[in-house]
Parts: sequence; C-alpha cells; structure tokens
Amino acid sequence: LRQFTPTPQIRRNAALQRLLSTLAVLEQREGKLNMSSLASVSAGLKLGGTIHGLVAGSNIKSVAEEAAKVEGLEKIIFVENADYDKGLPENYAPMLIENIKKGGYTHVLAGHSAFGKNLMPRVAAMMDVQQISDITEVKSEDTFVRPIYAGNAILTVQVADSPKIITVRGTAFPSGAAEGGKASLEEGVDPKAPCPTEWVSEDLAKSDRPDLASAERVVSGGRGLKSKEEFDRLMPPLADALGAAIGASRAAVDSGFADNSLQVGQTGKNVAPQLYLCAGISGAIQHLAGMKDSKVIAAINKDADAPIFQVADVGLVGDLFDKVPELTEKLGNA
Ligand code: FAD
Repeated sequence: LRQFTPTPQIRRNAALQRLLSTLAVLEQREGKLNMSSLASVSAGLKLGGTIHGLVAGSNIKSVAEEAAKVEGLEKIIFVENADYDKGLPENYAPMLIENIKKGGYTHVLAGHSAFGKNLMPRVAAMMDVQQISDITEVKSEDTFVRPIYAGNAILTVQVADSPKIITVRGTAFPSGAAEGGKASLEEGVDPKAPCPTEWVSEDLAKSDRPDLASAERVVSGGRGLKSKEEFDRLMPPLADALGAAIGASRAAVDSGFADNSLQVGQTGKNVAPQLYLCAGISGAIQHLAGMKDSKVIAAINKDADAPIFQVADVGLVGDLFDKVPELTEKLGNA
C-alpha cells in the first residue's frame, strides 16, 4: 500500500476550507421562509466550508425549523423578536453584527433583494469593510464576479477585507433545495438596539399569478401595446395559456399600461425564467439588463431591426395585435 502524502497546495486548501465559515441571512415574511433568499445558501455552497443560516422575527422557531431542512446548512441561528419582522436595517444590522462576531464568520451572504440592499451596506459600514454587491459567480473565497453598467460589463473583484459582506443575485444561483437538510437550531444574540425608524404600513400588489422574480415563464409587454386596455386585453390570456407571470417594460409602466411592480430591467426586477416572451418591446439596454439571462428569449416586434432580436432565440416579425391573439389561441388548443 502506497502512503498518500498531500502536496502543500492540498494542505493549504484543506486548512482554508476548515477556516471558511459563512452566515446566510435568510428572509422571512409573516412566518414563512422566503425561498428566493436561499440563493445565498447556494452561493455559500460554492465557497465551501461550513454554512449557517440566520432568521429573525416573531414566532421564529417555526421559520427556523423550516430553514433547518434546507440542504447544506449545518446550523440555524434564530432571534425571536417582533422588532425584526420588517427587516428594518437600523436595528437588524447591530443584531446581525453581534451574531457575525459571535460566530466568527468569514463570509456573510444575503439576497440582493430590497431587504439585502437595505441591510448589508449598513452592516459593512458598521464593520468598516467594503460591501460586495450583486454577485453572480463565486470564483474563490476572495474573488467574485458582478455585473456593472446595467450588465454591459462584468467585473471580477478580489477582496482582502474580512468578513466579506456580500449580496447575491437571486437569478444567478439556484434557490436551493428546501428538503433533505438536518441543521441544528441555536438561539442567537439579541442586543435589542433601539430603532429610530417606525414601520408605518405597506401596500403589496396581490396576484394569483406566479411571482415575477422567480417564475419559470414570463410574458412581457411594452409600449407597442399602445394602451392599458390593450395590455389588459392581450397579455393576461397569453400568460394564462403559458402559466406565466406578467412583466412589462418601463415605457409600458410609465405610460400606465401596467403596475410598477411588473417592471423588468435595470430599475425593475431581474428575471431569468426558462422562457421570456415579450411583445412590443424594443430591447433597450436597461430592459435587457433585467432579462437577458433568461434561458429562451422569444420576441414579437413589427420592426425587424429592433435590438431585441439581437438577444432573442426566437423572433417573430409582425403586428402584435394579430400575433399575440393567434399565439394565445394556438397555445390554448395545444
Ligand atoms: P419602445 O422603445 O418605444 O419600443 C416599443 C417597441 O414596440 C418598438 O420596438 C416597436 O417596433 C414595437 N411595436 C410598436 N407597435 C407594435 C406592434 N403593433 N406590433 C409589434 N411591435 C410593435 N426600461 C425598462 O424596460 N426597464 C428598466 O428597468 C429601465 N430602467 C431604466 C433606467 C434608466 C436610468 C434609464 C435612462 C432608462 C431605463 N429604461 C428601462 C428605459 C429604456 O431605456 C427604454 O426606454 C424602455 O425599455 C423602452 O420600452 P419599450 O421597449 O416598451 O418601448
């Protein structure tokens, strides 16, 4: 039997893996784990080392138990306090920092959602490290890839700071399996920092359709639809035929054809469905920034030179007022 002698490189990597420890900040809403925040766990798995999750809010034990089933997590830190229900960064950040220090984490990951974007820069500033935003790839424990200029350039950043405070683009990492894990539960530290901000109210758009940001299929309408009446007449039946979420360009939103929550793009939502089917959208870079990672892009536009056709896998040149009803009917009969 030959004895295996690890090379210095293998020894270094093994030592590094032992030292790496990641805390994934998981979101909850009204006692339910937000599945899209599990992308931070998937990104943590790419880093290697141990991964713990943190949840905070009221009746948090049931959320912690749900999170304990997420594959890859070894421990769930839970902080029971209704003051964290809305994720206000003013008091959430000091609580998170206490738990980061207690666990000695080298990496802290959260989704690049409204919650993560609100919280993580404050955490980074309070810990005197830089924040690494909206990563789409983990190259190594200190090197990450992120899009800049609305996705027109891709930046690879190497960061010496520790801990590394990172937000993760949800569409770039799988949302992870919420089954199969057996993490232990541990009560976290709660400094109960005062919160100068008061949560007043929220006005949430309710829809029976799939959630736009995580839908498998999205149909999107643009200015070419001409009016809200036409948008409402043509897009919902097409979405129903495909079981899709509805999206819109900013021009369609600004013209009042669709609700603001449906905007896809640089200043709207990032989507990466299996199918993105758009009608009457020209394909401006700010729109592409939010949907170009879709697996299959199909476009209907009457202008054969529209820039959307440069990224589309399937293109149909024609009048959407003819093509969309025709397609909806064919899909309905399929
Ligand atoms: P248009 O560019 O006007 O295109 C309409 C298209 O419909 C045309 O290609 C036309 O050929 C086609 N059409 C017209 N009639 C028909 C018909 N009958 N049949 C078939 N096709 C037809 N935009 C976003 O979408 N999301 C963002 O998040 C976003 N963020 C922005 C941020 C900044 C800082 C800035 C400056 C801009 C941003 N924009 C964003 C706006 C963006 O630049 C474009 O203005 C917008 O995307 C255009 O929307 P549109 O394609 O619906 O309209």
